[in-house]
Amino acid sequence: MKYYSTRNKNISVDFKTALMQGLSKEGGLFMPESIPALPKPVISEIEKYSYNELNYIAAKEFIGNEIPSEKLQDIVEASINFPAPLIELGDELNILELFHGPTLAFKDFGARFMSKTMEYFNAGSGKALNILVATSGDTGSAVANGFYGAEGINVFILYPSGKISAIQEKQIATLDKNITALEVDGTFDDCQNLVKQAFVHKELNAKLNLTSANSINIARLIPQMFYYIGAYKQLKGKKRKIVVSVPSGNLGNITAGIFSKKMGIPFSIFIGASNVNDSFTEFMNTLRFKPKKSVQTLSNAMDVGNPSNLERLTELYSGGTEKIREDITSSSYNDEMTKLGIKELYEKFNYVIDPHGSVGYLALKNYMSRLSGEKVSGILIETAHPAKFKDAVEGVIGNKIDIPARLAECILKEKKSVKISNSLSELKEILL
Ligand SMILES: *Cc1c(COP(=O)(O)O)cnc(C)c1O
Repeated sequence: MKYYSTRNKNISVDFKTALMQGLSKEGGLFMPESIPALPKPVISEIEKYSYNELNYIAAKEFIGNEIPSEKLQDIVEASINFPAPLIELGDELNILELFHGPTLAFKDFGARFMSKTMEYFNAGSGKALNILVATSGDTGSAVANGFYGAEGINVFILYPSGKISAIQEKQIATLDKNITALEVDGTFDDCQNLVKQAFVHKELNAKLNLTSANSINIARLIPQMFYYIGAYKQLKGKKRKIVVSVPSGNLGNITAGIFSKKMGIPFSIFIGASNVNDSFTEFMNTLRFKPKKSVQTLSNAMDVGNPSNLERLTELYSGGTEKIREDITSSSYNDEMTKLGIKELYEKFNYVIDPHGSVGYLALKNYMSRLSGEKVSGILIETAHPAKFKDAVEGVIGNKIDIPARLAECILKEKKSVKISNSLSELKEILL
């Protein structure tokens, strides 16, 4: 498979280049030349395939022979070593739980797969790969865990001191080996600026093999298709229209869902559910995009005013024409409504959902309420474990929630971050 850039169709690179480079030189995002179709029997007899067999088949379509089959199988199995169960809550409501990975959010799928593919391609280069990431929370923990112990790769995570949650800090800053957490005296934007300065610094680039692990890497989208295919398998052949609601921010998750639909999985419609950061909802209403300044909400991983993957999504519909509305719709909800959604799911089904999932629930409910009596299979994508947002969720349901063992253990560990000021010279010293 070859990949082109959303900003220059003449660029054509292989998977390895798209993976290691992250972003195309002129700032575009890498897109597969075509979306391959899954072999027909894989869809019609999907129940005969195991989770990781399906994951491997999908990955192979996008990576081809750049990674030998057996090795790719190992990578899939080592990175997706946790389940993504579909929980049936009601006749029309199913929840796809994507929080069974090490950091309890769906970003584990992308980060783990990206780390293992990068490790594969970097092996034998004889040069250590240094990954720099700025984080405001969730991406950092998934990347730190995903790359933990990767051979020949050093990871430096920059986070703003005092500006991420205590749980997030523990998830980022309690690892050793090849992971270094840098606690920056500054804001998230300062962290991002330091990373950008490092990438264009002559001496650093001459001496070090630097790369990023940001959310627009194509290697993150590939494993995010796996769980959509797996969700279809778990529906066990219910012959109804399938409606998928995706709590959205940077739109990577929903883009992967659309990829899976284009590969042949018979999903009818996707809902991009937003909080009050509603630039995507507005885009779907007007087909004109206006970026907005982001505002803070309960579902903070969706606080994105200028979603980077919109460029990929519109690319699939000739630049964002009417056609996009055949596959996607969107609606948005504020924090008060989000709390009501958490409460309603708890009271009706005794199910504890996190704030991101609640936004998805509200959007799904809204969509279903406008169907005239037609029964559907609703799939709600639950992107994070509610324990990551313990205080907010417990406040709403009026009850304690269970903390998964892997999170409880992590909270007890000692923080090991290195404090640095907001200056390139200190960062440079640590890197060299
Ligand atoms: C990152 C994230 C999202 C948003 O996903 P996108 O792919 O950026 O749209 C939603 N929920 C949680 C918990 C996340 O971490």
